[in-house]
Amino acid sequence: MDYGSSLVTKQGERATFESLDVELHNVFKFFNQEPAVNGVYLDIRQGEFFSILGPSGCGKTTMLRLIAGFEKADAGKVVIQGHSMTDVPPYRRPVNTVFQSYALFNHLNVWDNVAFGLRLKKLRKAEIESRVKQALELVKMEGLRSRFPNQLSGGQQQRVALARALVNRPALLLLDEPLGALDLKLRKQMQVELSSLHKQLGLTFIMVTHDQEEALSLSDRIAVMNQGKIEQIGTPSEIYEEPRTVFVADFIGDTNLFEGEIAGVDASFVKVVTKKGLSIVVTRQQDTPTEISQTVVISVRPEKIQLSLYKPSLQTNCFEGRLVNIMYLGTHVNYIVQLTNGVRVTVLQPGTFGNLPDRETPIYAWWAQGDCQALSPNG
Ligand code: ATP
Repeated sequence: MDYGSSLVTKQGERATFESLDVELHNVFKFFNQEPAVNGVYLDIRQGEFFSILGPSGCGKTTMLRLIAGFEKADAGKVVIQGHSMTDVPPYRRPVNTVFQSYALFNHLNVWDNVAFGLRLKKLRKAEIESRVKQALELVKMEGLRSRFPNQLSGGQQQRVALARALVNRPALLLLDEPLGALDLKLRKQMQVELSSLHKQLGLTFIMVTHDQEEALSLSDRIAVMNQGKIEQIGTPSEIYEEPRTVFVADFIGDTNLFEGEIAGVDASFVKVVTKKGLSIVVTRQQDTPTEISQTVVISVRPEKIQLSLYKPSLQTNCFEGRLVNIMYLGTHVNYIVQLTNGVRVTVLQPGTFGNLPDRETPIYAWWAQGDCQALSPNG
């Protein structure tokens, strides 16, 4: 079966397949008896910008390679558009991959790099001409069609790599750290272009990245991976605002973590007493642990903590301390507050014009009970 040419008939126009997505059913991949992908279930929807995010070595690239067919699963099943991919080689899958290293042919110019795959498939000359032209226009590289890769900037090379993948009209575009080799400014610019390209084409994009900001800003949904397993799948705001595990809370953005035990439970909140004696009230959510004496970890984002020079009229989650560090960051100010029991909390507040308080200033730090989570330490 050849999926490669029929699914996306022209730019942005989708065939009406019942299922144009990717499913991983309990997939395992071992290297030297060690699981790189450890029993993963995943369902990627048609047209989604889906990111796989996690620290180095957690199995992201292996998962992408399993979808592309460059690796074979040791157990479980990869399904693309409703078809099992178990016996389908990479070149017959409706996917194309863009690598961080671009992998362009240095002896071919831009045009020939993009046309290469189509010539191998022995398409008609006129068809090749029109598809290469369209792909180069999409990535705004038509004007540089005669240049060789070593005459292009990193961003331009990455655009050619994108055109080379898109010219095959894949149903799924796999992106392996596609912007990893670019400097920060160019990376930001290419992020915007990648997002526009996704919207324009309506294809399913699956991107591997270890850059949480990139994943949060580009993705419809994100899978956060840790040691071969998926810790959480959700929209960027779900992942950030409602982390389900300590790993996700800690890996995505900055957070304050306090370990403690559940000391009280009610229909709408749990009360946790930390090892250092802080009594913290947390609004109950669907997965909030509720067993008395159970060990939990409280997560509070720095921007959720308010500071006040005077004692607020609050009964819960309000603690006295002193400022031990103040860092002006332009748009924000980062404060470190040492509470009277010795615990330090990081607080991020919008930058204001005017004098900042001095170090050692007595201060109250407080947050709403709905702005923190109680998480089971074992996920
Ligand atoms: P990075 O962000 O550093 O690229 P990653 O999350 O993509 O990391 P993988 O490249 O998928 O991680 O690797 C997952 C684990 O599998 C690592 O421990 C890695 O050393 C191991 N691994 C990956 N490929 C191979 C291979 N071909 N042979 C042996 N071990 C491998």
